[in-house]
Amino acid sequence: MLDSLKDIIRKSSIHACLVSTGGCNGCDIEVVALLSPRYDLEQYGIYFHNNPREADVILIAGAVTEQWREKLQRIYAKAPEPKVVVAIGNCPLSGDVFNQEGSSVYAPVSDFIPVDAEVSGCPPRPSEILAAILAVGPDAIAAKGRLAKGDQKAEASEEAEMNQKAEASQKEGEEKV
Ligand code: SF4
Repeated sequence: MLDSLKDIIRKSSIHACLVSTGGCNGCDIEVVALLSPRYDLEQYGIYFHNNPREADVILIAGAVTEQWREKLQRIYAKAPEPKVVVAIGNCPLSGDVFNQEGSSVYAPVSDFIPVDAEVSGCPPRPSEILAAILAVGPDAIAAKGRLAKGDQKAEASEEAEMNQKAEASQKEGEEKV
C-alpha cells in the first residue's frame, strides 16, 4: 500500500538532491529558503532529499575541493538516468572567492560532471534557483516517462517568474526606504 502510494507521488514529482562541494554555505542557505512558506517548493512537486539514487536533479553548490573531485563523480554515477545537474552560485562555476593562488579548488564543476543549468550569483536568489530547477527538471522526468511535458512546466515557470518579479520589487522598495 505504502509502496503504491509512493509510486503515484513519485510519478508526478521532481526529486532533487543537494551536494555541497566546498563553499561558505551561503548558497545552501538560499536552497533551504525554498522550503519556507514564502517559496513553498513542494507546491511545484519538487522534493529535496539527500539520496542521489532517487534524484532527478542534482544541485551542486561549492567550489569543488580536493576531497570532492572523485566523490562528486561517484555521486553523479549513482543518480538514475536521465538526470540533470544545476550548478548553483559562482563557486561551482569559477571557484569564486576560494579560487586563489595555491588553493585546492578545482572549479568549474563542469570539468567533472555535465552541467545542464547554471545559476550565477554569490549567492543567487532562491527564485533564480527555483527557475533553473523548473527549466531543466520537468524535461528530465518526462524523459523517464513520468510527467506530461508542457502545461505543468509552463504554469510552474510562470509562477516562478512572478516570484522573481515580486522579489525584485520588494528589493527596490527596501532600497528606497
Ligand atoms: S557562491 Fe558565494 S554564497 Fe555561494 S557558496 Fe560560493 S562564496 Fe558562498
